[in-house]
Amino acid sequence: MALRQIITLPDPVLRRKAKPVTNFGKDLQVLIDDMIETMRAAPGVGLAAPQVGVSERLAVIEYAEEDEENEESAAEGAEVAPKPPKPKRLYVVINPEIIKASEEKVMGVEGCLSIPGLVGEVERHEAIQVKALNRHGKPVKLKAAGWLARIFQHEIDHLNGVVFTDLAARVWQPKEEVEDNV
Ligand code: ZN
Repeated sequence: MALRQIITLPDPVLRRKAKPVTNFGKDLQVLIDDMIETMRAAPGVGLAAPQVGVSERLAVIEYAEEDEENEESAAEGAEVAPKPPKPKRLYVVINPEIIKASEEKVMGVEGCLSIPGLVGEVERHEAIQVKALNRHGKPVKLKAAGWLARIFQHEIDHLNGVVFTDLAARVWQPKEEVEDNV
């Protein structure tokens, strides 16, 4: 495995509509492993192939889903032992498509490894269903809600040449470094 260089704006590869993946051979497997390593090293919670200069429709995501119960008990100040955090899950999605999206939309502040130093407030569907192929070409369907759904929408946008600053209601330079970059 090897780290790949993360491409930043204004590189035109980030503006191209990426091509569907058709070959699931060794080159793709190496690319996927490199993307996972590059995402972890960045660090980031998602990375789309155009961000490493490859105009193909695939993305990797690694994220631990939020535990709503923990958040609620923290908000109430209840003295119950919090459950251990959910483990991070790794997703490799090839030729992903959003097949269902909630009417409910939510605002959130996101950043991007390809646009260092900026964050923006972006409205996203609260929940989505995605169909894709896994790294071996097998069809998979998955549901995502909350921040995970946001990451999926951000990565799928990258495959269509769209970046968050195109969609953001406002964009600014944060004082502190953002950890959840995608
Ligand atoms: Zn991004």
